[in-house]
Amino acid sequence: MASLSDYIDTAFDLSYLNFSKYPQTEIKSIGILGGGTAGYLAALALKKLHPKIQTSVIESSKIPVIGVGESTTTEIVPFLHRTLGIDPQEFFQAVQPTIKLGIRFDWGCPGDYHFNFNFFAGHQQESYYYEDSINNANWASVLMDNHKIPVIREKNGEMISLLQSIPFSYHIDNKNLIRFLNNIVKQRQIPIIDAVVENVHLDDNDFVTSIETDDGKKHSFDLYIDCSGFRSRILGQGLKTEFISYKSTLRNNRALTFDTPNNNDIRPYTQCSTMPNGWAWTIPMRGENHHGYVHSTDYCDEEQALKEARARFGHFEKYKMVEFRTGRHKKAWNKNVFGLGNAYGFVEPLESTAIQTAVHSIMTLCKLMPNNHHDSSSIAAINQEIAATWDTFRWFLAVHYKYNKQMDTKYWQDCRANTEMGDAQMVVDLFNQRAPLSASNLGTNSPYTACEALVFNSYSYDTLLYGQKALERPPVRPKMSKEEYVQRTLSYQELTKKALSLHELFSEDYLIEGGLLEQLFEDQDTWIVETEA
Ligand SMILES: Cc1cc2nc3c(=O)[nH]c(=O)nc-3n(C[C@H](O)[C@H](O)[C@H](O)COP(=O)(O)OP(=O)(O)OC[C@H]3O[C@@H](n4cnc5c(N)ncnc54)[C@H](O)[C@@H]3O)c2cc1C
Repeated sequence: MASLSDYIDTAFDLSYLNFSKYPQTEIKSIGILGGGTAGYLAALALKKLHPKIQTSVIESSKIPVIGVGESTTTEIVPFLHRTLGIDPQEFFQAVQPTIKLGIRFDWGCPGDYHFNFNFFAGHQQESYYYEDSINNANWASVLMDNHKIPVIREKNGEMISLLQSIPFSYHIDNKNLIRFLNNIVKQRQIPIIDAVVENVHLDDNDFVTSIETDDGKKHSFDLYIDCSGFRSRILGQGLKTEFISYKSTLRNNRALTFDTPNNNDIRPYTQCSTMPNGWAWTIPMRGENHHGYVHSTDYCDEEQALKEARARFGHFEKYKMVEFRTGRHKKAWNKNVFGLGNAYGFVEPLESTAIQTAVHSIMTLCKLMPNNHHDSSSIAAINQEIAATWDTFRWFLAVHYKYNKQMDTKYWQDCRANTEMGDAQMVVDLFNQRAPLSASNLGTNSPYTACEALVFNSYSYDTLLYGQKALERPPVRPKMSKEEYVQRTLSYQELTKKALSLHELFSEDYLIEGGLLEQLFEDQDTWIVETEA
């Protein structure tokens, strides 16, 4: 006869909840068109999370990848190393990434003004109230201003790494990343076909029956994932899926990209600098900085863009023009095609969100994988989730254009006067009523969330609106006293004095030889946990 404790054990046994997060599906084969970041990440995720599906990649060595997409957000770190199981040491050796603590915006107010936007919640309200700046809001921000990272070297040489506590992301050279991912895809025995897709064949109901390559072969799959970049060869050209433009919010459509030497001053942030007809990124790599002057061809021709970029960053000879469009397709999943990466949509690179959104879309697909093409509820949920994520970024980016007063050119006058704000207007109004938004708990991810638009964004909106000095009324006195605030700032500064630069971290090889990387990924008490969609 069972005892009382047996009954209690049975009543509280939750092991039945340990179900697979990734549903069974009748979809047996997936063909991914494109061997860029989006295509390879999707292939690796499907192989790992849906191993029963036969996944193949079709790409063409005749059509180069876009070559940009080098600044990332924190999601990439757990996605690569936890979800995809990519060894951090191999990744660091092959890809040579640098570490990004956030973005430094030369933005908001006229003159030599900047504010830092990092991945660590902080005391923006206090910093803004006591110092009229948010740059001492947290330790990560002070580290950024001093070009340091959260790894401390004591006088006796002992190393203390706090990388497990301060979220970071990677700056990744796109060429290195693609080469590395290509190797991993091959190692994991995902077939790669090198051919140009020339035709997309449809049946009477507009379902794709095959894609035909330039060698005359036809390739058929249950599901086609279009990662062909801005060509959008299947979702856009093949199915003519409706495209929703974001131009009324995001007017830029081209980037002038070039490199400059950085003499090993490897800064731990992406820098976004206001330019007369747009803005420019600086992404620090080991040995050089990669730049892009993002502008609108309605305001600025090639000669003008070159002149302005050279005036800001010094002379450079080699450059490329990268054209893009902002917007998204109405449906990510249409018929038996799923669009991902630039083939589905793009905002613009100001907050480095494209790879993050691709990762989110991949995880959404893996978790909601429809049972078959008639599973319209799963398909509708996928489409809604992905569209909403992109639109959220569109409105968030709108705030950058509406409130940047750093320059007074025609371009910036038009941005301030004519940027469509959508949902962001309500958030700005709320901010003016009750800043900081994060302190009011408006955006916590609870069943009683007061404001859905802020679930992931209240801290980001606070940073951006305080940072640009968009608050239209005097700030409210914070609970933290001035003495306590000064004490905190002092501790950030003392810690920073002992912190390493990225050049020191890499040149002394503290990460691999010194064991800090291994320690970081073995630590259980860390922000690097497996990605959830
Ligand atoms: C100016 C700019 C800056 C950006 N900066 C960032 C950033 O800092 N951070 C960020 O997260 N994102 C950024 N992005 C977005 C980033 O480029 C993409 O998210 C990322 O590179 C993924 O690209 P992709 O894989 O969709 O396309 P691509 O890299 O263009 O790959 C397309 C693939 O499709 C293949 N292909 C295309 N047509 C065919 C065909 N007919 N037959 C066979 N193969 C074909 C090509 O061979 C290639 O392999 C930026 C984008 C732009 C435009």
